[in-house]
Amino acid sequence: MPHGHPIGVDVGLSKFLATSDGVLVKSPKFLKVMQSELKLLQRRLSRKKKRSKNYEKQRIKVARLHHTIDNTRKDFHFKQAHALCGAGDMVFVEDLDYRTLAQGMLGKQMLDAGFGQFRTITKYVCWKRGKFFGEVNARGTSQECPECGATVKKDLSVRVHHCQECGFIADRDVASGQVIRNRGIELISTAGHVGIQNAYADGLPGAEVSQSRSKSKTRKGTTRKSLK
Ligand SMILES: [Zn+2]
Repeated sequence: MPHGHPIGVDVGLSKFLATSDGVLVKSPKFLKVMQSELKLLQRRLSRKKKRSKNYEKQRIKVARLHHTIDNTRKDFHFKQAHALCGAGDMVFVEDLDYRTLAQGMLGKQMLDAGFGQFRTITKYVCWKRGKFFGEVNARGTSQECPECGATVKKDLSVRVHHCQECGFIADRDVASGQVIRNRGIELISTAGHVGIQNAYADGLPGAEVSQSRSKSKTRKGTTRKSLK
């Protein structure tokens, strides 16, 4: 159930994540180091004669490092997810489809950073620790002012959000995190209204039938109107 302190989380490449509370986490350097080492090992492997003893030795080295990288990344993701759950009660992220994004320009980097995995792990850790996890519309989160809602256009090179309308200044990614948090709060407040309505309807014995009938009538009416 939604409750307590909300946190909006923006994940990216220039930083691993930024939260609406101003926490910034750098992309882990150890992964980059290990990945360049992996490339080196793979290059060596390609020079070995296939099925030779040395090839087999090298192949095991490559596989072992692959395994270590996967584990280290997963461990990092778990630590970050726990840190988020420790800092708040509701965690909101963008509903980006990383598989689609990965096909684009930033593809390889996106997959290396494993954002999809991070989201899955965060969702799991939230569930495990009784925190609320929510996904919000990702559209334009980096171009909106979290304070006044004005559109503040900036390309990727602009690292600071400076709103001309209200004068709000913040780190670009922190501002995005705050927009995500705002959208999350909006999301649960509208979802909350639906929940309250249903609870009332259930709580009135005998009145349900007529109520639900009148409700469905109005619903049909509105859909017809909107279709025209
Ligand atoms: Zn503003």
